[in-house]
Amino acid sequence: MLIAAIAGVAAITIVVMVVVVAMRNRSSKQRGARVSQHDPLTGLINRTLFQDRVASALTRARRDGGLVTLMFLDLDGFKDVNDRFGHSVGDELLRQIAGRLLVALRETDTVARLEGGQRVEDAGRVAMKILKAVAAPYTVGTHELVVTVSIGISMYPIDGDGYEELMSGADTAMYQAKSAGKNTYQYFTKSLRDRTSDRLSLLDDLRAAITNGDQLRLVYQPKVDVSRGVVTGLEALVRWQHPEKGLLKPRSFVPLAEESDLIGPMSQWVLDQACRDMKVWLGIGLRPMRVAVNISDRMFRDTSLVESIAVSLAAADLDPRHLEVEVTERTITQEAERAGRAIERLSDMGIKVSIDDFGTGSSSLRHLQSLPIRALKIDTSFVTNIHERKESAAIAAAIIAIAQCLEIEVIAEGVESLEELARLTELGCSQVQGYLFAHPLPPNEVIAFVESYDRSLSFPSNSASGSSQ
Ligand code: C2E
Ligand code: CA
Ligand code: CA
Repeated sequence: MLIAAIAGVAAITIVVMVVVVAMRNRSSKQRGARVSQHDPLTGLINRTLFQDRVASALTRARRDGGLVTLMFLDLDGFKDVNDRFGHSVGDELLRQIAGRLLVALRETDTVARLEGGQRVEDAGRVAMKILKAVAAPYTVGTHELVVTVSIGISMYPIDGDGYEELMSGADTAMYQAKSAGKNTYQYFTKSLRDRTSDRLSLLDDLRAAITNGDQLRLVYQPKVDVSRGVVTGLEALVRWQHPEKGLLKPRSFVPLAEESDLIGPMSQWVLDQACRDMKVWLGIGLRPMRVAVNISDRMFRDTSLVESIAVSLAAADLDPRHLEVEVTERTITQEAERAGRAIERLSDMGIKVSIDDFGTGSSSLRHLQSLPIRALKIDTSFVTNIHERKESAAIAAAIIAIAQCLEIEVIAEGVESLEELARLTELGCSQVQGYLFAHPLPPNEVIAFVESYDRSLSFPSNSASGSSQ
C-alpha cells in the first residue's frame, strides 16, 4: 500500500497538471524550454516525473508482488469557472485544490502504512476522501466556489501491467464516473473497456453519417388542437439508419453527439433538413404552420446557434414564421445569459420558442416571465395515466395555470389514451401530441395526415395513421 499511495499521489499530480496545461497553453509555450519537474502553478509534479514514479512503483510491485493503484482525476465543470470568473480565479482555485489533494493524500499515506492494508477496496476509501476534500467550498477573492471531481481507478496487476494500459484504464473509468453523475469514483473493468470501444466506434460511424448525410432521417410528429380540430404544427425528430444496427432512436446517439463535437454538425443537418422539408410541403399546399426543431442546451454554449438557424432558413428560403425551436428548462437555467440573448434574437426574427419537458427540470418562473417564451410542453411523465394519478394531474394543472397567467400556449406530449386526453382537456389543455393521434411520420406521409385530420371531426380514432417510427 505504500507503493499504491505513492502512485496515488503521483496520479493526482498528473491530472491537475493536464488541466493546467489545457488552460494555460499559451503562457506555458511562452515560458519555452524551461525544464522543471514541477508544475509552476500548483507546485505538483509534472507528467515526466509522474511517469518515472509509476515506473518505479511498478518495478517494485513486480518484484514484491504488490498492487499499484492509479487514480485519474478530472475536475467537474472547471471550464465554466474559468469562463465565468476568468483565468486568475481559475488559477487560484487550482492552487487551492492542489493544496487540499496533497493534504488528503499525505494523511492517507500514513493511515495506509499504519494499517498495513493492501486491498482493492482501499483505493475506494482514498477516492472517497479525495471527493470530500475537493467538494468543500472554496473562497477565491470575493467568490464562494464549489467544485467537484470525478475519479477513475485502475490497478496493477488486475487492469494492466504497463503505464499506458493503466492510464487508459483509469481514464476510461473516469469518463464512466462523469456519466454516472460526476462527484464520484469508478473502478476500471473490462466491460468498461468494451463499452468504451463500442462507444468510440459508434462515434466514428456517426461522424461519417453526418458528413455523408445519407443515414440520418427526420420523422415528424403532428401537434394537434382537439378543441379546434386542427393540426397546429409538426415536431422534427431525428433517426439514424445505421448500416448494421438498424434504425436508431435519438437516445442512443444524441447524447453521444452532445458529449462530442458532433452536436453542432448534427443540429445543423437537422435544421437544414427540417427547413427544406417545410418549404417543400408549403410549396405543395400545406396550410401555413411551424416545424419545431429540438435544440440541445449544448448548442446555446455555441454562440453561432442563431447564425446556424439563419443559415438554414436562408438556404431553404423559409420564412422564420414557419420555424419553432424547442429548448429544455435546463437550457434556460444553466445557460441563462447566453440562452436568454439567443432566445430574444430568435424571437425577434419571428421564430417561436417553446420549453420542452416542462416540469422535469428546475423551472425558473423568473426566466419564463422575462423571456419571449411562447409555449410550455407538459412532459410525458405527467401525462401518462394522468386520469388515475392525482399527483400528475396536480402538476399538469399547475403548469396549465402558469401558462394561462403568462398568456402563453400549453401542450401535452405523450398522449396515448382517450382517458388521458379527457383529463387533460378537463384541466384546460387542448393542444396535444402523442401516439393517440399520430406516431412520428416519415416526410411523405405528413401532408396526407394533416389533410385527413383537418377534415375529420377532430376526435382521434385508434386507427390513427402512422408507422411505428
Ligand atoms: P422529446 O423532444 O421530448 O420528443 C418526444 C419523444 O416522445 C419522441 O421520442 C417521440 O417519438 C416520443 N413520443 C411521442 N408520442 C409519444 C407517445 O404517445 N408515447 C410515448 N411513450 N412516446 C411518445 P424520440 O423521437 O425517441 O426522441 C427522444 C428525444 O430525443 C426527444 O424528446 C428529444 O429530446 C431528442 N431529440 C429528438 N430529435 C432531436 C434532434 O433533432 N436534436 C436534438 N438535439 N434532440 C433530439
Ligand atoms: Ca421536443
Ligand atoms: Ca418533450
